[in-house]
Amino acid sequence: MAELPHMNLVIIGHVDHGKSTFVGRLLFEHGEIPQHIIDEYKKESEEKGKATFEFAWVMDRFKEERERGVTIDLTHRKFQTDKYYFTIIDAPGHRDFVKNMITGTSQADAAVLVVSAREGDGVMAQTREHAFLARTLGVSQLIVAVNKMDATQPAYSEKRYNEVKEQVTKLLTPIGFKDVPIIPMSGYKGDNIMKNSANLSWWKGPTIMEALNNLKVPAKPTDKPLRIPVEDVYSITGIGTVPVGRVETGVIKINDKVIFLPANKSGEVKSIEEHHTAMQSAEPGDNIGFNVRGIAKNDLKRGDVCGPVSAPPTVVKSFTAQIVVLQHPSVIAAGYKPVFHVHTAQIACRFEEIIKTINPKDGTTLKEKPDFIKAGDIAVVKVIPDKPLVIEKVSEFPQLGRFAIRDMGMTVAAGQCIDLEKATVA
Ligand code: GDP
Repeated sequence: MAELPHMNLVIIGHVDHGKSTFVGRLLFEHGEIPQHIIDEYKKESEEKGKATFEFAWVMDRFKEERERGVTIDLTHRKFQTDKYYFTIIDAPGHRDFVKNMITGTSQADAAVLVVSAREGDGVMAQTREHAFLARTLGVSQLIVAVNKMDATQPAYSEKRYNEVKEQVTKLLTPIGFKDVPIIPMSGYKGDNIMKNSANLSWWKGPTIMEALNNLKVPAKPTDKPLRIPVEDVYSITGIGTVPVGRVETGVIKINDKVIFLPANKSGEVKSIEEHHTAMQSAEPGDNIGFNVRGIAKNDLKRGDVCGPVSAPPTVVKSFTAQIVVLQHPSVIAAGYKPVFHVHTAQIACRFEEIIKTINPKDGTTLKEKPDFIKAGDIAVVKVIPDKPLVIEKVSEFPQLGRFAIRDMGMTVAAGQCIDLEKATVA
């Protein structure tokens, strides 16, 4: 049987708009909530004289336990349909949610934006922030879940749905999201998630599950030039120097002529293996070790990037970065020199110039050449690495164009390389 494709989902949206409830519902409907938890809650609900066991009860219990600081293990956040293996790659409410999203610790193929339709809710601050981040980070597929339809006035109001839909469209269109399904539902009651609901009889569009199954299979970037950021380098008796890393783009084959930069060492691929199995070639997603003739262990280190001699990785003199400042005790001005974590490299880089700040609502310029930026700001900056660094434009190699910026033991900012000036490699 052919293996189903994987689809990594991130659930975004304003606090309290129903992300956890939605995730709980998806897992529950797919039989992924551990049986012992269901049994325990079922027993409790019977003891308390609640005749029927409902999902709402399970979620209330989850909520209570969360509030008491008890973590219920929902780490196995996977479910399967006839089309995909879905993995929910970040827990809503997770403290490092935004950071993880930015640094690509969790690389999402698609996002579900949850927007509550309750009176007074609708598009709010974090709705905007998360939508903008998702777009900035290259999440191209989005589904909007208009949640809490059971709590509109009157319940399941088509008029209220249309209001929220209009707000959402106003938010998403200028950011560049197109053809986004905007679907009414209730995570709490379960309307229009797995099947159509009589409560939403006016709705003629898809259910959430149909929209999830309609997502497009993420393409493997095999048609791009090869890029393998080096994670580690081994010297293995009988084989020789073996760099290891994950193929991000392109294909590597035996006999290929490859170059490592910034090390500036090249050679011919002699063997490739994954989990001790020899391979003739490897493609994106494969974690491999490979032997390259003519290269010594000391020639390479973590942070070098392997590519074809004919289309080598880009070493930069400077680059233009679009960043989001997540946290900083004071302000950031030109001259600031934190550490950039790009693919497997960690290099101190200097903020040469703060070019402008950007309006998160629509991506337009807020201020040209501001004196400083602070937490919450989105800015475009010119950056000069302290030492030779490979980074690529996010438009060409998204996997090699994103980074986190760390200082004082925390992630201060994150972003992506939108332009660059090549260095001449000696
Ligand atoms: P999160 O902060 O986005 O993860 O939101 P939660 O899932 O924790 O939900 C916040 C509150 O909204 C909780 O009290 C939920 O019970 C409630 N809630 C979530 N989804 C729905 C829904 O579809 N209808 C109603 N009426 N309440 C909901």
